[in-house]
Amino acid sequence: MILDILLSRYDDVVAAWRALRAQTGLRLREIACVGAPRTLLLGELGDPRLPVVTISAGVHGDEPAGVWALLSLVRDGLLDPRYSYRLWPCFNPTGFEAGTRANAEGTDVNRTFGRGGSSPEAKAILTANRDRSFELAIDLHEDHEATGFYLYETAPSARRSSYAQPVTAAVSAAGFPLQILTPEFELGPPGAEAAQVRSAGAVVVDAPRETPFFGGALPLGLVLVRRATPCALTFEAPRSRPPQDRIAILRVAVVEALRRLGGEGTQHDG
Ligand SMILES: [Zn+2]
Repeated sequence: MILDILLSRYDDVVAAWRALRAQTGLRLREIACVGAPRTLLLGELGDPRLPVVTISAGVHGDEPAGVWALLSLVRDGLLDPRYSYRLWPCFNPTGFEAGTRANAEGTDVNRTFGRGGSSPEAKAILTANRDRSFELAIDLHEDHEATGFYLYETAPSARRSSYAQPVTAAVSAAGFPLQILTPEFELGPPGAEAAQVRSAGAVVVDAPRETPFFGGALPLGLVLVRRATPCALTFEAPRSRPPQDRIAILRVAVVEALRRLGGEGTQHDG
């Protein structure tokens, strides 16, 4: 049942995650945000000796489908047990509570991951992640302008994309549209398109080339691929679809990315 997951209060999100502990073995911690009266929830799932995948949601408070989808993926046991998981249920609690993109200070948290973090949330996340590395990083978003799903696949150098094709194929096969990414569709700061390769529903980003266009106001993915992971995926559900579709799209995308990480082809590969 999906309706009970459409939460709008942050306290209810925390309570829903706490309720999963007994059933899933999930370990939860609260990470203090220095300089702000808030904490971030951090969940760890699975055998810590296994390779680690990190999945986050809710860095933009007006994009709740990522928060709902991540909760439902854990609740429904859909995360591949060959990995352990470092899960951030909601990167921006004050924005989530207010339904705003920015946090309570009016800051877009996903432009504050440069230079060790310039928002309380980014500082807390980068500090908690220090010296950690991940097989894969996935961040869940919604796009208010999109009518179809799309993803960013960000890598530490120009290389052949591994996830864009199978993940978009899986979303299509599930019956959902892909966003057509025309040159007019805005994807990052002006100039960033020079470091991007666009196809239907996918943007493959060469991180070292794209980074300068952000002028230090960096999103998480560009920072993670410097040292912490060989690939950062950002999934964007189209806000024009109803909540259950946005949740379903993000679930399909995450499950397919984990299959691909495990070296499996998909039934769509032919
Ligand atoms: Zn977003």
